Amino acid sequence: MSDARPLVVTVDRGRCIGSGLCARTAPTDLALGPDGRAAPVRPASAGSEELTEAAEMCPVEAISVRDAATGDLVAPLW
Ligand code: SF4
Repeated sequence: MSDARPLVVTVDRGRCIGSGLCARTAPTDLALGPDGRAAPVRPASAGSEELTEAAEMCPVEAISVRDAATGDLVAPLW
């Protein structure tokens, strides 16, 4: 994610177990809501190493980061 394409972050809140890992790793993009589950902080993101790391480290693979224009999955990529 080195360029500045707008990205959309989504969290499958049905899968999220509220570990808080993503919110600690990428607090500009992810935060825990009042229900204890993660949610995107903003509607579009410029992306960051931290966001990629958060998507890759989620223990239940609940986070997806996609190119806003094409819908292509940007993270996690294995
Ligand atoms: S890392 Fe995954 S399970 Fe943990 S709070 Fe974030 S989305 Fe939920």
